[in-house]
Amino acid sequence: LGAKAVNVSAIQGAAGSPKRGRTKADEIAADIERSILKRQFRVGDVIGSEETMSTRFAVSRPVIREAFRILEMSGMATVRRGPGGGLAVIEPTADPVVAAAERFLEYRGVRRSEMLTARVALEMTCVEQLSLSIDEAKIAILREALAAEARAGTQVVSGQVVAEQMHVVIAELAGNVALALFVPVLARLSTRATDLPESEWADRSAVIHHAHVSIVDAIIAGDVPLAQHRMRRHLAALAEAQRVQEMND
Ligand SMILES: [Zn+2]
Repeated sequence: LGAKAVNVSAIQGAAGSPKRGRTKADEIAADIERSILKRQFRVGDVIGSEETMSTRFAVSRPVIREAFRILEMSGMATVRRGPGGGLAVIEPTADPVVAAAERFLEYRGVRRSEMLTARVALEMTCVEQLSLSIDEAKIAILREALAAEARAGTQVVSGQVVAEQMHVVIAELAGNVALALFVPVLARLSTRATDLPESEWADRSAVIHHAHVSIVDAIIAGDVPLAQHRMRRHLAALAEAQRVQEMND
């Protein structure tokens, strides 16, 4: 392992006193997670194998296996097989958060209209922050995203309308990680995937692409009120299409 070896004393020192109801595997997983969040490892680093970690933490291999499983579930690490394998750090993604948020909001019976209200508030901020921080690099990414959308269609995957990637690109370029996390959650939850006949989704896709082009134009011009107006109008149109769809169901 060399330079990438675990600083066990640092990890164990961060453990604190064990809490009731938590298993040894939970504690070890939490310790390793903290060390990853403190950036003691880089993406791709192998933290240790089942064997070396069971020695370091002085626990059985099934306990280490369980700790690895917990870290895999949280999307922080993956277990690599074979020689030189073991628990490896991966880039955390928003996917587990999105899935958990979806389950929570659906369970609580949050209405689509409420999620849309929250979405509009977030996207107004995204549009404002991006318009005010626009530069050549961001313009290039926006243009590439629009070109990809023109090639592939905006939001149709195998005949189903799904949340639109362009909104995620805008949120990410706005430079606020929290916005970039919640925009796709609310986008997915506020617009349900709908089955549309092929003739109809081609039309819908073209209308949406046109709206995105006009929003991006205003962002590139740095015109905050115009960009916000166009985004608000676009989201209202999506909500209306959703309402009509639900009435027809
Ligand atoms: Zn859109």
